[in-house]
Amino acid sequence: MLFRLVVTSLDLPGSRRTVHYNDDHRERNSDLRRFLRTSVIQTVASLHLDEVMLRRHRWRSSRGGPLVLVVEMHETLRRDAGQLRRQLEWVAERFTLISPETFFGLWDRTRTPPNWSKPAVLFTFDDGRESNYTVVAPMLESMGTRGLFFVVPEFIGLTARDARDFYYSRIDIRGLAPSESEEQWMPMSPDQLVDLVRRGHSVGNHTLSHVSLSGLSPSELRDQIEGGSEKIAFWTLRTVEAFAWPYSWTAMTQQSWDLVRATHRFCFSPCPGTTDCSSDSPYLIWRTEIEAHYSDSEYRFMYSGLINPIWAGRRRRLRAMLKT
Ligand SMILES: [Zn+2]
Repeated sequence: MLFRLVVTSLDLPGSRRTVHYNDDHRERNSDLRRFLRTSVIQTVASLHLDEVMLRRHRWRSSRGGPLVLVVEMHETLRRDAGQLRRQLEWVAERFTLISPETFFGLWDRTRTPPNWSKPAVLFTFDDGRESNYTVVAPMLESMGTRGLFFVVPEFIGLTARDARDFYYSRIDIRGLAPSESEEQWMPMSPDQLVDLVRRGHSVGNHTLSHVSLSGLSPSELRDQIEGGSEKIAFWTLRTVEAFAWPYSWTAMTQQSWDLVRATHRFCFSPCPGTTDCSSDSPYLIWRTEIEAHYSDSEYRFMYSGLINPIWAGRRRRLRAMLKT
């Protein structure tokens, strides 16, 4: 029982999370789980187990792959900019930072795989908030890399009350009182998206209006998956290659997947793991949530991959569903 509680506590999002979370069962015993999560992460840090795992990851990556850790972030607020920069600098010492263009190229199996001395990291950002444009995009550029921004077209370009209402009814659905700080819920504008693409970043589709794909009719699915990409392509004048489904790892269905495969080249999941581009499917790319505001021990734990074994069963279930 205690072991199970400890394991499930590691599934909890980090402190101060401001995005959606729709697995009700995890809310039970949440104080105890939060305490256990913090204790486990601090113990791992004090024993330097995260560094041991990172060395193992480096060894694995030198023998096969290419292996890529895809990071999923959400808001990148100004108040977290110092913490985020420290995180990115720490990552740059231990990983090869790659752009979406480099990542997409890894799936061209006619090319010789790169011979990186360190495993690779790709940064992705969900929902399309303006803080991604103002805070993290320039930071990534200063470190010689670029990001992949999964945006919600019906949210993009909204202002003032419309933006806040959309954010608190479609994106953060926990029923919290809206934040006084508009940075928390302000989306990017279409011009900012276009500028990101001009500067070498990529824009992906996170559904037209941030819905759960399970339970939609065929025409609703078409609007959300195909319609979302069409709207982004209308702004950026680029084909949208990547799709990331919102909410939990269980929110993907067979029917939705078929449509994603027919209209995109890559599908990103909200399920942690390391993606092996030589053997994994481009329609099931693992992503590990590591937010800008995570403490040093928290983000080091997540980058180390110590969370991955806990998600092995869920990765297996998704793989089995994709094959059917
Ligand atoms: Zn989202």
